[in-house]
Amino acid sequence: MLTTLKGLVLRERSVGENDKFLDILTDCEGLIEVSAKGVKKQNAKNASVSQAYCYAEYCLSESKGRYILNSAEPIRVFYDIGTDIERFALASYFSELLLYIATQEKPNNEVLRLMLNSLHFLCLKNRELLLLKSIFELRLMSEIGLIPNLIGCCECMKYSAPQMLFDLKGGRLYCEDCFGSRDLHGVELLDEKLLHFIRHIALTDMSRLFSLSAKKEYLLNLSNITERYVEIQLGKHFSTLDFFKSLTDGQIL
Ligand SMILES: [Zn+2]
Repeated sequence: MLTTLKGLVLRERSVGENDKFLDILTDCEGLIEVSAKGVKKQNAKNASVSQAYCYAEYCLSESKGRYILNSAEPIRVFYDIGTDIERFALASYFSELLLYIATQEKPNNEVLRLMLNSLHFLCLKNRELLLLKSIFELRLMSEIGLIPNLIGCCECMKYSAPQMLFDLKGGRLYCEDCFGSRDLHGVELLDEKLLHFIRHIALTDMSRLFSLSAKKEYLLNLSNITERYVEIQLGKHFSTLDFFKSLTDGQIL
């Protein structure tokens, strides 16, 4: 049976001399594994659509849940990402997060859209990397149902205050009065700016998501908060994140 799916290659794996397995995040079927035969041969017709960060309409033969690449029509190819090590490292982290999550989640077109938009801005090079990282991390959590409750203090509903406390495990806010003398472990302090950024990333429409601009002094802080939120919510540490951080190490790129 032939089927046509739009999708983004998140990872390619070599098989033997000539073939690859592709992990493709698709619009309708979520993450699928596709066998791409002969694509490593010179001048193979499907070579260019069998590489990481190619977004294309894939025509696949499907049999018993296994997919074989037939042909594909490229829509957008993000190969530029490979020309810059920091951008490549960040894209690899995004992919690792998606590969981890997609095995447990239902197909979610907004997640694919978030990734495509993030790659677009990574290639444009007009957004700080830490801003793109924060947007991807927190928005991804929101899209898969791990959205924090950001309406206000979870006890008295106060909407904002010069300082609020963000409980990363519970995914909720406290004002200082309601937080009282609880343990500060797993809690981040948010001033009004940081709270605004976090609300924007979690809640605003996708079309305005990347219009956020944060002063540099906030970016490190914001990046640290969204990163911890992901790690605590998923209970997992990602090696590609360590690699990205080893390259950037506190710099704002
Ligand atoms: Zn309160």
